[in-house]
Formats: sequence, C-alpha cells, structure tokens
Amino acid sequence: MIDLLAWLRTVEWYDNHAIGQILSCHRKAYWHLLYRGGLADTVGPGADFGTCIHAGLAVYYSGWATLPETKRRYGAFQAFERSYERLFVRPGRQVQNKHTLDNGIDILDEYFDQFLIQDRVWKPIENELAAIYQITPREGDPPGFAVPFWYLIRVDGVWERVSTGEWYVFETKTTGSGVDRELTRLRINRQTTGYAAVLSEFPDGRRIVGVIPNIILVAAGKREAKRDVMHRRQIHFDSWRHQTIHIIEDWRRSQALAAGRSHAEALEVFYQNDQHCTNYGLCTFYDCCDTGRTGLRREETMPLNTWTPLNSLAGEES
Ligand code: SF4
Repeated sequence: MIDLLAWLRTVEWYDNHAIGQILSCHRKAYWHLLYRGGLADTVGPGADFGTCIHAGLAVYYSGWATLPETKRRYGAFQAFERSYERLFVRPGRQVQNKHTLDNGIDILDEYFDQFLIQDRVWKPIENELAAIYQITPREGDPPGFAVPFWYLIRVDGVWERVSTGEWYVFETKTTGSGVDRELTRLRINRQTTGYAAVLSEFPDGRRIVGVIPNIILVAAGKREAKRDVMHRRQIHFDSWRHQTIHIIEDWRRSQALAAGRSHAEALEVFYQNDQHCTNYGLCTFYDCCDTGRTGLRREETMPLNTWTPLNSLAGEES
C-alpha cells in the first residue's frame, strides 16, 4: 500500500474531491492541487463528525450475516467512539451540542432501529472499497482527448439486492441542513455515478446497476434518515466519463496557459469564484487570497497537501 501511495505521487490522478475543487473555484484548485505541489485543505467539525458516523457504519455492515445484530451495533458504537476521540478530543476544540459523543451514539442507535428490517434484504458485498482506474482514450470519447489520467474512488459500500443478485453503490452522507434536500442533490450526483461508472469497468462490476444514497441527519434533538434506490445505465456512465474528460481537459488548458508565467500572472489564469468563499464555513485558502491585507504571504507557510483517498487504508490519518 505504501508503494501505491508513492506511485500515486508520480502520476496525474483525480478524485471526486479534486474535481469538486476545480468546479467550485479555479483559484482554490490552484492552491490545493498545484501551488508547491498543492496546499493542505482542512475540514470543519461537521465533516469530522461524518467521518465518525462512517466508521461506525463500516463496522456495523462488515459483520452482516455473520455476527448478531446487537454485537454489530455495539461494535459500531465503539468504532464511532474511537474516531471521535481521534478527531474531537483535543485541546481547544469547541464542540456543538449536535457533535457530542452521546449524540453521535444516539443517532447511530436510532438509524439502526429504523433500518433493521430493510437491511435484511440488502447484503453488503464490500465496505470501504478503494479502486483506481485509468481513463484512456477510446471510441466515443470527446475529440482531442489523447493523454490518459487516473481516477481514484473510495466507496462506502457495494450492496447486493438479495432477491435479484444486482449490485448497487451504497453511499452515506450526513447533513445538518435537511435530509430531503440532500437526497434531491444526490439524484444527479456525479460522485456516486462516477463510483458506479468506474466499478462497472471491472469484471465483477458489470453487476452494478445503481446507487443507494443513504442520508443521515446530524442535529441535536431531531432524528431523521432516508434512503433511495436509483438505477444507473450505461448512458449515465458514458455521460459521467465524457463530462469528466471535458473537466480535466479544461483544467489542463488552464495549466498550459499558466506555464512559464509569474506567480501573479498564474493567479489571474486561475480565476476566483467568490461565491464559494464562505460555503461550508470559511474557505481554507481565504488568507491566501487575502494576502495583501497583512503583507504576509500566507500560502508560503501553509502545510503541503499529502492527502489521498488511500491514506486511511494505509494507516495514515485521513
Ligand atoms: S477564498 Fe474564495 S476565491 Fe479564494 S480560493 Fe477560496 S473560494 Fe476561491
């Protein structure tokens, strides 16, 4: 695995996170992916709490049909607590009511109760699955696409519908702003479609026929969780592939335009989208964009980006 991480540093690769940065703000993508090899991004408490919930679910579903449900449930609580101690128990970390340890355990407990019956008709095939796939030019691709790139995925799960043997990508999202809204967003979500598209390229992946978005509300008192089952066909996979190629080719054109220019000129090529400066809290790179105010070049002191979706599988912090 460590060799794989070293190899990853030598190739052009993207994942959903990197593409999200490119789509949201070119300047942000420049700071995060290119400047000095990329600067570290940070996440807020909401994302960390989501990581703890994911840790609990991974343990719960990995024991499906082999361990009693009560044992899986307690295993999930313990996994949640371990992640929580790693991410939240540190000096100076302020914790809102909705992000307490007890609230997280309670959210999981109610979620397990709600889906106790439904979970019997779905068989988890894989939990926390990672894959890397090279997108190489082939018939039907956008004209001019000639240089391959790698696409990396990390999927929460692959589930089998027991009655038909069909496979679905299972993707959990935690939200503090409305389960229905998040479910609507995930109906045309490129992340989950991309997971299904990439997995469908592997021999066993031909059984992938759709996506199960699994949305869990993170709130102090209210409890809510919903799922949907959405089918995906080759036409969706082709559309995802072609759109991804267009995004990468656009991004490559910006890099070619900036090549050989001064830092100040490169910043103009990688233009700002200030609509995204305060989405999900203040942008990690706000100080870099606001450098002139203090005279300090914030970007020169920021740590470098070493994160990949494979880090936690290799035992590194994610
Ligand atoms: S602060 Fe705003 S303009 Fe600057 S990188 Fe972040 S989102 Fe883009």
